[in-house]
Amino acid sequence: MELSEYVATIKDYPQPGIVFRDVTPLMADGNAFNYACTEIVQYARDKGIDLVVGPEARGFIIGCPVAYALGVGFAPVRKPGKLPREVVEETYEKEYGTDTLTIHADAIKPGQRVLIVDDLLATGGTIEATIALVEKLGGVVAGAAFIIELDELKGREKLKGTDYKVLLHY
Ligand code: 5GP
Repeated sequence: MELSEYVATIKDYPQPGIVFRDVTPLMADGNAFNYACTEIVQYARDKGIDLVVGPEARGFIIGCPVAYALGVGFAPVRKPGKLPREVVEETYEKEYGTDTLTIHADAIKPGQRVLIVDDLLATGGTIEATIALVEKLGGVVAGAAFIIELDELKGREKLKGTDYKVLLHY
């Protein structure tokens, strides 16, 4: 399947000079969404994953069906003030400013093998912070998966050797 047919490109969003890749058409098409999630499930299947972790908001949308298909749970990574119980947090640089991400302090048991899922890898700040959160809780990042990587932003350098899967490169 040619997944790029289901990605909309928006120039100057959310700021002048940014080219935004919108995956909502992919998520809205049953065949394309199923294909994308199945590719990620196949990538993760032999990795002994115990838990899927995804950053808000599109990481939830892709991460939850992947967790369901793998037969494991899902833990959300969210912006500050959104999770109701004790959290650990990590501050990072992102494409459009600085931000902080949080995860429930009991979301991961030490030694659990975690798959991190998000829609898109850009500068890598989000994945770097998410990896740090997983490791703060004693989790092992066994892999990461994205629908899209924006190659020239070099986010892969922030993965620091973490094995990862990408379905589409721009
Ligand atoms: P990074 O932290 O790697 O710079 O940015 C990745 C995060 O920002 C992801 O959570 C992703 O959802 C969001 N993001 C940044 N740029 C884009 C884009 O062009 N399209 C989409 N769909 N998400 C983006």
